[in-house]
Amino acid sequence: MAAGRKPDTARRIDALRQGGLLVVLGSGESGVGAAVLGQKKGFEVFVSDKGAIAEKYKDVLIQTGIDWEEGGHSEGRILGADLCVKSPGIPDGVPIVRQLVEEGIPVISEIEFASWYCGATLIAITGSNGKTTTAMLTYHLLREGGLDVGLAGNIGDSFAGMVARETHAYYVLEVSSFQLDGILGFGPHIAVITNITPDHLDRYGYKMENYIRSKLRITENQGPEDFLLFDRDDPVLSGEMVQGRFAAQLLPLTLEEDPSATGWMEQNELRIQLNNEKSPLKMSTDSLALEGRHNIKNTMAAATVARLVGIRKESIRESVANFQGAPHRLEKVLKIHHVQYINDSKATNVNATFYALDSMSAPTVWIVGGVDKGNDYKPLMPLVREKVKAIICLGTDNSRIVDAFGNAVDLLVETYAMSEAVKVAYKIAERGDTVLLSPACASFDLFKNYEDRGNQFKEAVKAL
Ligand code: ADP
Repeated sequence: MAAGRKPDTARRIDALRQGGLLVVLGSGESGVGAAVLGQKKGFEVFVSDKGAIAEKYKDVLIQTGIDWEEGGHSEGRILGADLCVKSPGIPDGVPIVRQLVEEGIPVISEIEFASWYCGATLIAITGSNGKTTTAMLTYHLLREGGLDVGLAGNIGDSFAGMVARETHAYYVLEVSSFQLDGILGFGPHIAVITNITPDHLDRYGYKMENYIRSKLRITENQGPEDFLLFDRDDPVLSGEMVQGRFAAQLLPLTLEEDPSATGWMEQNELRIQLNNEKSPLKMSTDSLALEGRHNIKNTMAAATVARLVGIRKESIRESVANFQGAPHRLEKVLKIHHVQYINDSKATNVNATFYALDSMSAPTVWIVGGVDKGNDYKPLMPLVREKVKAIICLGTDNSRIVDAFGNAVDLLVETYAMSEAVKVAYKIAERGDTVLLSPACASFDLFKNYEDRGNQFKEAVKAL
């Protein structure tokens, strides 16, 4: 529970928890999780999905006897709701949500709903990039350190589904801005904001300030006993994190040599020291399982959380060394004829690709492209000039990549299928080079999703 939750918010939540008709809009992982939890807590539940509901989730609804519809919304019934949980994929502007709001029916997100029924210590991680990696690593450090901890949110199991099924003392939650848009009293004991760079602006009226405000909501119900960790090197965050603006204790992390921060660097050593500690936790960057500067930041955040919940320094040092990273994030696939193939399919925006290129230490054949969400490629230019020997465009429309980088590299090839892109990369790459798939774009033109894109890459590499 958040110590900082305002009394009127607490009263409002208590009233909403009394039951009645709970309408759940959207029937994916989070919608079904909320429905199951709602039913368990005595609500009459109705799930409504405008599209088709996946078989897996339909089975759960049928087995639990929850009422549902697909292929449209029954307005009359929905507008009789006492409470609505809206899935994060549904924008606020769609007609049914507008109508609910006009009728004065509270529309909340699934993490808000789940938090009403969870007395555990919550650790919530948000940011434009690095959420999954940081959440997985934090979970790993806490579990290896002997705590009873669950991992939920965007990352796989929904928070609500997990709360309905099992009880843990701690939860590590990966939280998106869309989930934060629908909170009332959600307030983690420890919040982490990895960074804020442009993403999903289509859902925020193309205004960066709306997206920033949404991310910062992670701290709005935190109190003075709670902690807010953030990357101080991020220009947006360093501007927003003014002492005194937020109730939580601010714990800045930086790659600079600055012992006044909570996490900082000294040569190639990462250091973390909480206010009440006599000496810092020290870890050599060579000992970290994850490579790249961005992963030093992610490790710093995860290790700081671990220290805050009392995990021993020695345990943290061991766990960061044996952590298996998440697939599709700078994932080493194979070395063929002394060429390293790396799958970074999850890099769906420019900032993620920036860090991928930044961490390349060999001449790089770079596979890039897909659905361009209005990217500004300028920040990549110095890295491309320094490290990239050839660009392989992979998308149905490669024109923006060609325009941006056509003059920056000697060789630029356009391809339209993964197998073709990988074969071209194989031809171009020489002993000692790296072939990097880091698209900086969404995947929906040629692939189902980023996992499909990454898997096709791995299969094509294995077939070489
Ligand atoms: P998210 O869950 O926020 O999408 P991931 O951990 O899945 O984040 O990583 C997404 C992409 O961003 C990957 O390509 C990864 O290499 C890159 N990345 C990871 N951490 C960071 C970070 N701290 N800053 C910038 N990019 C990052």
